[in-house]
Amino acid sequence: MTDQLLAQRVTGLTQSATVGLADKAREMRKKGIDIIDMTEGQPHFDTPEPIKRAAKEAIDAGMVYYIESRGLPDLLEEIKSKLEKENGIDVKTSQLMVTVGAKEAVAVSMLCTINPGDEVLIPDPYWGTHSALVKLAGGTPVSVPLHDRDGFRIDTNELQGLVTSKSKMLILNSPHNPTGMVIPKDDLEAIADICRRKNILVMSDEIYEKIVYDGAQHYSIGSFPGMENLTITINGLSKSYAMTGWRLGYVAASQEIMDKMLMVHQHSVTHPAAFAEKAAITALRECGKYVKEMVAYYATARGYFVSELNRTKYFNCSPPKGAFYAFCRIKNEATSSARMSDLLL
Ligand code: PMP
Repeated sequence: MTDQLLAQRVTGLTQSATVGLADKAREMRKKGIDIIDMTEGQPHFDTPEPIKRAAKEAIDAGMVYYIESRGLPDLLEEIKSKLEKENGIDVKTSQLMVTVGAKEAVAVSMLCTINPGDEVLIPDPYWGTHSALVKLAGGTPVSVPLHDRDGFRIDTNELQGLVTSKSKMLILNSPHNPTGMVIPKDDLEAIADICRRKNILVMSDEIYEKIVYDGAQHYSIGSFPGMENLTITINGLSKSYAMTGWRLGYVAASQEIMDKMLMVHQHSVTHPAAFAEKAAITALRECGKYVKEMVAYYATARGYFVSELNRTKYFNCSPPKGAFYAFCRIKNEATSSARMSDLLL
């Protein structure tokens, strides 16, 4: 009876697999079972001390009220100069917005650009939230298969073949959750070429940009000529600065798209916690050295983890080039990944 009260747009919505497993792991831990939790993309570290101090000082200084919905002006300036220096993206602060995690930025981007029936190309395998939010906005996710044999690179010919008159957006996530692939510059140029010719928006989720190994280099497609107005660039502090619980992300877009994104943001969440935004300034300005230390640790842990996985009889795995996930082949092909997760737990 009550399901008749639900809107059609949520009927196909299912729980995130990672969140579901994380809940299960938490339950097991509560029962005293000693498990290693590898379910969510949690950094291995505590948030760096200067960031925590800045937040505590901000609370004591009375930053407990509403602030500018777009974000603290000093934080927006910091993000603007970061994007210019590190990513080659030149935007005004009016083209920026601070969000409740990168996730809010993804959700608002979809709501502001996707019409029912629009196709959204997503390299597959993908982070489940990307496709879930496409569907919530009424769009249709279209898989662009990534192949193990190519190190999970996007095959630009295959991508071109999947473009139709309904293609509205391509989602890029490099470094990539879950495969750890980092899109090489040449591939990104070929992708930009397709998007410019077909007028396809790119939502570039760059949350793992700083977590790269073996000299792999991250490039932002929004810095490529002619991509300025076709790219929505999303980033956040969760992964690089070990701040998943702070819920801080940001997004850059063309003025036209951003003006509407800001409206959705104002009417739904207003802004992340004021004192958290204040601490984000300290993170971006002063905490690069902590990020480097954490990435150096991940690089060592990656080597150990991948070689140990490969020593088991269950997995076969190449080292990821970026992010902090190991995407393994299960040797026994009869065992699904969901079953394997259960077996491991
Ligand atoms: N994008 C990707 C690709 C992710 O893997 C995650 C977290 N798992 C997010 C965005 C969410 O980041 P945030 O914590 O900033 O919402």
